[in-house]
Amino acid sequence: MPRRGLARDSLARRARPARLVRACQQVALRSGKRALRVAALRDCGRRCVYCAKPLAPETATLDHVHPLAHGGSHLPGNLVTACGPCNRLKGNLMPYEFFARNPWAGANFMRYARAVHRGLKRGARRAVSLAMAA
Ligand SMILES: [Zn+2]
Repeated sequence: MPRRGLARDSLARRARPARLVRACQQVALRSGKRALRVAALRDCGRRCVYCAKPLAPETATLDHVHPLAHGGSHLPGNLVTACGPCNRLKGNLMPYEFFARNPWAGANFMRYARAVHRGLKRGARRAVSLAMAA
């Protein structure tokens, strides 16, 4: 009996620091997100990689080239900056689907998405050349 009481006490005592730790992690994540966006803006030449429109840091959105909905990651090699309309147009499409429908976006993507994974760029190049040939 006293043993169980002790265990409950130590659990209760641990609860508050855990919540604090989580709050700190969220703050770190948020500032990390801002750092990611600043880095992505720099790597993409401060433009939307799809329509090549110049972007201000306040209006830029982060796009996951390989969508999160399809198992894409938050890593910098999968992140580009895009304007709101292009980001909504792309939505959850895989890059090759999006570039097959909008070859103009693929052409800009190859030019401006400099820090993106090589494989994603290769896929974009293929999709654009196929769309141009069709
Ligand atoms: Zn755009």
